[in-house]
Amino acid sequence: KLHNTIQELKGNIRVFCRVRPLLGNELQDGKKTEDVITHMKLPDSNSGKEIELMQVQESANGKSVTKTYPFNFDMVFPGSTTQSVIFEEISQLVQSALDGYPVCIFAYGQTGSGKTYTMEGPDNLDESNMGMIPRAVHQIFATAAQLKEKGWEYEMEGQFVEIYNESVHDLLGNARWRDTVMHSGADMRILFWRHTTVILDTPGKVTALLKKASQNRAVAATMCNERSSRSHSVFTLRLKGRNRITLETSEGLLNLIDLAGSERLSASGATGERLKETQAINKSLSSLGDVIAALANKDAHIPYRNSKLTYLLQNSLGGNSKTLMFVNISPLPESFQETLCSLRFATKVN
Ligand code: ADP
Ligand code: MG
Repeated sequence: KLHNTIQELKGNIRVFCRVRPLLGNELQDGKKTEDVITHMKLPDSNSGKEIELMQVQESANGKSVTKTYPFNFDMVFPGSTTQSVIFEEISQLVQSALDGYPVCIFAYGQTGSGKTYTMEGPDNLDESNMGMIPRAVHQIFATAAQLKEKGWEYEMEGQFVEIYNESVHDLLGNARWRDTVMHSGADMRILFWRHTTVILDTPGKVTALLKKASQNRAVAATMCNERSSRSHSVFTLRLKGRNRITLETSEGLLNLIDLAGSERLSASGATGERLKETQAINKSLSSLGDVIAALANKDAHIPYRNSKLTYLLQNSLGGNSKTLMFVNISPLPESFQETLCSLRFATKVN
């Protein structure tokens, strides 16, 4: 299959680019921003690999100059691609967590580009548009039930944390969201690590877990506006398998990470809390890029310790792990520069 070929060629890191559709009144808005017109060339079908950004600029002498920025990814999904088509492309990866691999699936992109939609789905509970987290969980339960006939029994545990301003918060506890659950020394050695772990033996428990996390996040959001776009949320499923016939064991990890908005918040104008947030986001996203790039280059030293995010995920990045990054982009002309930045970031890790 196609997946295997890619895997052999490129190791275990893949990048999928997803363009969100134009929404509501965005459809009526003009496409022209000042004297620069931007276009996006996308595959017609769901299975393309190329995306090209184009910028047509009218110069003073009336001639127009076109700049093109072509990019290649493992997959490029235009705005019309459904959640279920996208899930089909990641279902093998989800499966490998049951087979004992550590797996990370990230959503990277500016605020409003569709990261949360991709990971969780739309705000309104809408089964047909469910995101990757509930789909992954459903698939894992379904497959685990099938594997039972072959002697496999799985124990599953879930955790859900949020990283905000380089501190880790438990999204499942009854404790206040502000409780920091991971303290570490200056050298990033963990001194104290406490978070809620939930045993997941029925799909209903997973639904309850996701609901609790989103409630805790909502509480946090009212305390600090737009916080969810400035924090990373990390959902982790730990899958311990044991075969009672063959006595084989396996231990897989599935991490689904909705990253903080990648937009360049200008650090120059920011002060106080906002400056701190900006620095924390820039640091963690660039550290993530560095770690993935170092893994792709097979570097001897992988710089996990430069941010809480990479430190938290170090057992799931590298070794025999598999990583997929969604780079979510907006089709809006005014997002052109951010889109370009996101695609460049994704190319660096690709
Ligand atoms: P982000 O998490 O990156 O800030 P969201 O996932 O919240 O972005 O998406 C921004 C808006 O666009 C939301 O209203 C969301 O429902 C909508 N949206 C994003 N992707 C899609 C999609 N593929 N189809 C329909 N609506 C989408
Ligand atoms: Mg979001």
